[in-house]
Amino acid sequence: MSSSIEKLCAERKIKLTENRRIIARVIEQSNDHPDVEEVYRRASKVNQSIGIATVYRAVKMFEEFGLVAKHDFGGGRARYEKLESDDHHDHLIDITTDEVHEFFSEELEKMKEKLAHEKGYELVGHKLELYCRPLKR
Ligand SMILES: [Zn+2]
Repeated sequence: MSSSIEKLCAERKIKLTENRRIIARVIEQSNDHPDVEEVYRRASKVNQSIGIATVYRAVKMFEEFGLVAKHDFGGGRARYEKLESDDHHDHLIDITTDEVHEFFSEELEKMKEKLAHEKGYELVGHKLELYCRPLKR
């Protein structure tokens, strides 16, 4: 099964090595916004010969081509997810576990546009991150 990152690369005539294919699949199959180390751990389970430097380079390349999104949720490490043009969501970060939850609120989306309009602007991009602590411990 080929991933959509692979398909997009093929469309844009970007050559993918077998290792980069594996890394693309790992990112695609992860919904927990892994950091590079975690992508490396998962990719090296598929092919032990993949080194962390390869993962760094691959992730950077996917990011440059707009295929993956890089997030800074604090904690000093960048985290990644597959970018889908038709999928917009915001993030809620559990600061006690670094767990990331995705959410989407139509109401919030409308509110963001409204706020921009009221200031005399057209909204062209936005991101919202909620940093949270669980109510119950
Ligand atoms: Zn996300």
